[in-house]
Amino acid sequence: MSTVIDGKALAARMRAEIKERVAAFKAERGREIGLAVVLVGEDSASQVYVRNKIKACEEVGIQSYSYHLPADATQNQVCELVDELAASENVHGILVQLPLPRHIDEREVLRRIPTKKDVDGFCAENVGNLAMNRETIAACTPFGVMKMLEAYGIDPKGKSAVVLGRSNIVGKPMAMLLLNADATVTVCHSKTKNLKEVCASADILVVAIGRARFVTEDMVKEGAVVIDVGMDRDENGRLCGDVDYDAVKEKASYITPVPGGVGPMTITMLLYNTVQTASRG
Ligand code: NAP
Repeated sequence: MSTVIDGKALAARMRAEIKERVAAFKAERGREIGLAVVLVGEDSASQVYVRNKIKACEEVGIQSYSYHLPADATQNQVCELVDELAASENVHGILVQLPLPRHIDEREVLRRIPTKKDVDGFCAENVGNLAMNRETIAACTPFGVMKMLEAYGIDPKGKSAVVLGRSNIVGKPMAMLLLNADATVTVCHSKTKNLKEVCASADILVVAIGRARFVTEDMVKEGAVVIDVGMDRDENGRLCGDVDYDAVKEKASYITPVPGGVGPMTITMLLYNTVQTASRG
């Protein structure tokens, strides 16, 4: 039987601390901390994410600036807006909600976000700094996972960590953060052979593939720490993770639930990154 890593409770504690830091910043510097959120198009999931981010800013006292461009906005319009935000003294962090419509060059848009305002940690320089274990802004979801491990006293040092999934926003930065924390890291993906055996060798298994309940009990080592990043729908349309939670929790030492695990930490780390960038600036 495992300990459940309560992401909701940890996120609430961290948000209370962030709120205090935001208030202290205002008191010391006489100005707000600002986060600009740019949405292009009408993707309904993106609209929900953006609304949640703006609400979270309000909760902790960060001033949000919301921009919603139409789906047919041109590359120039998006880039001009990002340039304007890059130059604004009131904006400490810029978040461009991905994915962008197909006709927009995502790389070019991200390239225009100054490294120090890249609160999502997606820009090439921040990714490069992460790879070189230098000061950086780390992507919110994997950064949140590291905070969860820390909060539960799980030190990756010397442990065998397996990351299932190699996306730019979760799997790869997750692997680099674990490596920087001295774990021995293996990254798996859809072409990995002997996936079951590799996963079952992990002391820490982080799963981010987007396949409902893909990781079954036989893929997990007795006593492993299992972190489920997945946000999927099961056959009844209910929210679930990439891990078969009920079976795996009997074998793991620690496990994150879905919902209530990694999810609540992601936006919290966005707030955290925004306060960090404002404090450095
Ligand atoms: P993604 O970009 O679709 O990447 C999925 C990765 O999983 C790819 O590397 C893919 O391998 C690998 N994969 C897919 N099927 C596989 C299989 N059968 N065996 C082995 N590897 C497989 O996904 P993502 O953006 O990283 O997101 C992953 C999951 O996390 C999704 O459920 C998403 O909703 C969730 N998520 C949650 C949060 C949160 O805040 N909780 C944040 C972000 C994402 P290839 O590279 O070989 O194709």
